[in-house]
Amino acid sequence: MSGRDVLKNCPLDRWAWVEIDLGALRANVRTFKALLEPRTKLMCAVKADAYGHGAVECAKAMYAAGANQFAVATVAEGVELRRAGISWPILVLCEPPLDAIDTLLAHDLMPSIYTSDFAFSLGERAVALGKVGRYHLAIDTGMTRIGVLPDDVVELRHLIDFHRGLECAGTFTHFATADVIGDWDFKQQSSRFSRAIAALEAAGLDHGLVHCDNTPGTVLHPELHNDMCRVGIGLYGLHPSATTEPRVALRPVMSVRARVTRAIYPAVGEGVGYGLTYRVPTPNIQIATVPIGYADGLARVLSNHMDVLVNGVRVRQVGRICMDQFMFAVDTSRRSLGSVKTVAPVECGDVVTILGTDGGQTISADEMARLRDTINYEVTCDFGMRLEKVYV
Ligand SMILES: *Cc1c(COP(=O)(O)O)cnc(C)c1O
Repeated sequence: MSGRDVLKNCPLDRWAWVEIDLGALRANVRTFKALLEPRTKLMCAVKADAYGHGAVECAKAMYAAGANQFAVATVAEGVELRRAGISWPILVLCEPPLDAIDTLLAHDLMPSIYTSDFAFSLGERAVALGKVGRYHLAIDTGMTRIGVLPDDVVELRHLIDFHRGLECAGTFTHFATADVIGDWDFKQQSSRFSRAIAALEAAGLDHGLVHCDNTPGTVLHPELHNDMCRVGIGLYGLHPSATTEPRVALRPVMSVRARVTRAIYPAVGEGVGYGLTYRVPTPNIQIATVPIGYADGLARVLSNHMDVLVNGVRVRQVGRICMDQFMFAVDTSRRSLGSVKTVAPVECGDVVTILGTDGGQTISADEMARLRDTINYEVTCDFGMRLEKVYV
């Protein structure tokens, strides 16, 4: 996509936006559905506002493309989906505070459970309200984050199962190393999980839907798909690790764009931004301003290290990234160097691509993650902070 084509997406009141390609999102959902047996359900992780992509719009598009259930991290995220009219099953991926129970029941949100205290309170309130508290049992098979320990699974269920206000709709665990091929710890987690499921069955307890695979698990471990897969990052078109790249083709969903608000030719020696960490080294360097900053998720640690695309050409970001704006340099003198691609001066209003494709060039979330020493998940979450999302 070229700069001019995307101008129509620019909001009226701010020359900066996030573009969400719902066609790519639906294609990714279908790609994951195609990896699953027809009977296996797809639970889409839309926590953290769908990894920064906008949970309500994404959940609707995902459902249209074949998703069955949704997972959120907080009660408030679940409530947001319900208020938007989303009626499909929603799992909250933690055991929230006891004070959240009425909200869970009012909005038909399933908590993850791993303590008897929470289970009893949920059951009590459910009975008082004439409802049933549906939940998923979380098992900690080795990530040491949430869940009941494998040896305590049957005991916990025996303790709470008398309660008529409770219904176990699922049993799950989460892998710490699903992206590492042939990993010993992964095998350890998966065998602990299957033993816990077998123990529940031997005790005659209904475990509901069994699920454990996240994105890398779903791609690399079809033998563990069970009743449902919980997929997040892959739906947004990004790979959790290099190990899944050769196995499945995905289309990135998020782009970040802006328009140049000012462009000038400062004299040689003039500085740019707080601390003047960049100084104009030669004549004919144009300095352009872009209205996106670290409060929009463009991490300040990228200052003087990242590129942006303008008119299909990579140019260098210069000076410290501010809270709401950053600057980049265009070396218009490069026209005189015969072999180097001509860099035309930019103009106020030109489209700048911070994340995504312009012409033949792409800046990926993976490139940005490497520069930030983090993972693509954090890159897209961060861009969800403040920029207006435009669904295309
Ligand atoms: C976030 C999350 C997922 C999805 O993980 P991806 O790596 O994005 O696929 C699945 N399960 C749990 C418990 C999670 O917290």
